[in-house]
This record gives sequence, C-alpha cells and structure tokens, in this order.
Amino acid sequence: MIPAAFDYTRPSGVDEAVGALRDGGEDAKVLAGGQSLIPMLRMRLASPTTVVDLGDVTEMRGVRDDGDALVIGAMTTHDEILHDPLVHEHAPLIAQATETVADRQVRHLGTFGGSLAHADPAGDLPSVASALDATFEVAGPSGRRSVPASEFFVDYLTTVLEPDDLLVSVRVPKLTGWGTHYEKFNRVAQAWALVGVAAAVRRSNGSVAEARVALTNMGPTPVRAYGVEDALTGTAATEDSLAAAAQRAADGAEPSSDPSASAEYRMHLATVLTRRALQAAGGA
Ligand SMILES: Cc1cc2nc3c(=O)[nH]c(=O)nc-3n(C[C@H](O)[C@H](O)[C@H](O)COP(=O)(O)OP(=O)(O)OC[C@H]3O[C@@H](n4cnc5c(N)ncnc54)[C@H](O)[C@@H]3O)c2cc1C
Repeated sequence: MIPAAFDYTRPSGVDEAVGALRDGGEDAKVLAGGQSLIPMLRMRLASPTTVVDLGDVTEMRGVRDDGDALVIGAMTTHDEILHDPLVHEHAPLIAQATETVADRQVRHLGTFGGSLAHADPAGDLPSVASALDATFEVAGPSGRRSVPASEFFVDYLTTVLEPDDLLVSVRVPKLTGWGTHYEKFNRVAQAWALVGVAAAVRRSNGSVAEARVALTNMGPTPVRAYGVEDALTGTAATEDSLAAAAQRAADGAEPSSDPSASAEYRMHLATVLTRRALQAAGGA
C-alpha cells in the first residue's frame, strides 16, 4: 500500500527536531532507520501528519567514551554498533545481541535508538538495555531528562516518550571484569526472538559476585529476572548452581501465546536459555 500523505521535515539538530515535533503536534512521528515505521506507514497502521526525519542529526550518531560509561547516540545504526571497538571492549552484550538482529540490510539502516523507542517485546535490545541498567537521555520541549531503563518501557510498543520527545542517546555503564552473553531462540535464522536472554555475570574467586539477567519476549516489556539474580549472587559459579538459579527465570513473567509459541513453551524456553546464557557468561 501507499502511505497516507504527510508533511516531511529533515532537521539538522536535536533542538530543531524537538521544535518540529512540537509544531507537528500529537500526530508527528520521528523517522530513524525506517525499518519499523515505513512498513507501518505502508500498511496504514500509522498515519502521521508530519514525519521528522533524523537522518541529518549527526550529533545523535556514534559511540563515545564518557569515563565509567559509554554514550551511544540514538541514530547509531546496528551495523555501526557491531563495528565499534568501544562497544566490543566495554559493552560486549550489546554487540552479541545486535549480531542476532535481522539481516545485514536491516542492520545497515535500523538504529539502536529506534529499536529502543519502538519497544517491540520481541526486539533484542530492550532486554539488553535493561540488563545493563542503561539510562535514556531524552529531549523534549521543556528540556532534557534522564530516564532509567527500569522506567523507560511502559507497555507493548509503549515507552515514557511523549509524542514531542526525542530519544537522544543511551548511557551504558561499562562492565569491567564481567562475562556477558545473549542467548536467542528463533525458529529460522534472522527471525525475531521467540524468547531471548541477556546475561551479565561478575565472578570473584569462583563465586558469582553479581549477576544481571533480562528476558526478551516474556511479557509486553523486557522482564528483569531478579529471582535468578538473587539465587545466583554469592553462590559458587558451578554448572549445577547456574542451572538451579535458571529455574527461576520465568518467575513473575506473563508471556503471551501466539501462533509461534504458547505461553507455557515460552516459560520453558526461558529457563533453558537462561541456563545456557549463564553458562556462557559466567560458567567455570
Ligand atoms: C525484516 C526485519 C527483521 C527484524 N528483525 C529484528 C530482530 O530480530 N531483532 C530486533 O531487535 N529487531 C528486528 N527488527 C527491527 C529493527 O531492529 C529496527 O531497527 C527497529 O525496529 C527500528 O529501528 P529504526 O531505526 O528502523 O526505527 P524507525 O522504524 O524509524 O522507528 C521506529 C519507531 O521508533 C520511533 N523512533 C525512532 N527513533 C526515535 C528516537 N530517536 N526518538 C524517539 N522516537 C524514535 C519512531 O517514531 C517509530 O515510532 C527487524 C526489522 C525488520 C524490517
């Protein structure tokens, strides 16, 4: 289908973009890589009156070192993330998950910020941002604010972003000395996750000193598996204790049933994939 007609604007800075969103009102939409928005326009699931294309907002692109954290511009593409040495050194979990996102074509256009702002429950990066305790830097008409990952994702395809808000960048604390792994289960290569698990483990003297685990597609928003984290912390990093902790992966999760998988199957997958993710991230 052909999208409904809309006004098109291509600002060159964050303030100009926020101004364009404010002027466009509730029916203005940001265009990042277009990998989710363009299909929605074509299917007329979205019919914005104004599209604000961020393609020229260069200040929202790239990864920079900011002391104890990385700051990743929202317009940084998946492909740029995959080739960024800072990401590989300080936040390898992001690279591990990004590698599993779609195919090369999508990764060349789709953006880190677009994936997070879109907040698809099956998207791989929201759970990664949750496991990494990332902070979202948001610009709106009344200025800038920081939103922790625990508050950013609100519901299915819904975040705290208002229609005239822009996700500018994401601040990711560096995890020095941690092991990380993203484990994804899909039916065919390059497909969306039936379930995914983002795991980060810090070991000390053979024990788990700290652990962070977050799940993809186990509810309308990413699910932080606090039960697993509590069960792991302070225990020996053995195969048995990692497997025992993984049994708690689905505690409190409310996954949906759809033609690809029942909720019960997703609960089962969550425990199996969490065990694998923990073994890869923190196994002996
Ligand atoms: C065939 C295919 C397979 C895919 N497979 C996967 C997969 O396996 N795993 C996965 O995680 N993803 C997958 N994706 C999605 C991909 O990761 C996209 O990059 C992502 O959904 C949207 O990013 P985008 O930059 O294209 O955003 P767009 O499509 O441009 O925007 C998406 C939404 O976010 C809003 N938005 C974008 N950027 C901002 C911003 N900075 N501030 C405020 N709002 C913003 C837009 O207004 C829009 O509502 C797939 C996509 C396709 C087409």
